[in-house]
Amino acid sequence: MIIWSSGGDVVQLGAVGEQPCENCDQERPFSVVLNYRYFGFYFVFNCVTERNYLVACDVCGSGLKINPKNFQGELPPARIPFMRRYGLLVLGLLVAALVVFARLRGD
Ligand SMILES: [Zn+2]
Repeated sequence: MIIWSSGGDVVQLGAVGEQPCENCDQERPFSVVLNYRYFGFYFVFNCVTERNYLVACDVCGSGLKINPKNFQGELPPARIPFMRRYGLLVLGLLVAALVVFARLRGD
């Protein structure tokens, strides 16, 4: 049985200071965040399917999407867990290794 899963998470990348928030209607601290979605199998072998960078209010979470290319070198690397980022690649390599191993044993 194949079990697939999907989900999302938010990674804080750094504070950008106080700005007026339209949702809170007052000055609030804002941060750059990465909002990402992932998909995978058996809750372990995942890959990231969508990344959205935002400058978001720390209190209410509302914010504006930004293009990360405009901040190249300024944004710290996002700490996405290894198996969420490369888990599907690991699964592919395991399957390929099993196929190669089975062929070597068969000959
Ligand atoms: Zn707010």
